[in-house]
Amino acid sequence: MMAENLHKYKNAIYLSLNHTLGGAFCIDGKLFPGLNQKAGEFGHMILVPKGRKCYCGKPGCADAYCAASVLTDGGQIPLEQFMAKLRQNDPAAKKKWEDYLDSLAILISNLRMAYDINLILCGEAGGYLSEYMIPLGEKVLSYTGFDRDTRYLKNCTYAREASAIGAAKHFIKLKIKGGSRLCYSR
Ligand SMILES: [Zn+2]
Repeated sequence: MMAENLHKYKNAIYLSLNHTLGGAFCIDGKLFPGLNQKAGEFGHMILVPKGRKCYCGKPGCADAYCAASVLTDGGQIPLEQFMAKLRQNDPAAKKKWEDYLDSLAILISNLRMAYDINLILCGEAGGYLSEYMIPLGEKVLSYTGFDRDTRYLKNCTYAREASAIGAAKHFIKLKIKGGSRLCYSR
């Protein structure tokens, strides 16, 4: 979340679709950590009761349906390879992608219902979603009764290494605030 422009996205959910699924959100331009610094663990919300087993041990977590690892057979093939197959209209890849977008649409719809704020699609899989916003938007709208469009869905600024960029921005901000008293590099 910190990798994005928090002035532009004062109120937004950051959905990180990497090998595992993570997230964060900011309210009034500030990250909301929760009481135990666990706010935004969207990956372990139950998406399908008694569904696929998640790496956390629970069945049916959103991670088991919406993380990039779903597309890469648990990381056995690079995501680029999967996306290339999809572009070549490989039937198995197309089916997997359709199922992936369906599951993601449910998760997005639930998050939008709970927070009513912008939602930024990020991470390795999120980076590719910019090419598929229309089919994804259509699926999201089929699950919601309130929104008439999905303009609240945004594409990320950094599809890769966003955590490193966000962490670096945090220390740069401290440096600017604290002047020479704070040092962020050895
Ligand atoms: Zn889980």
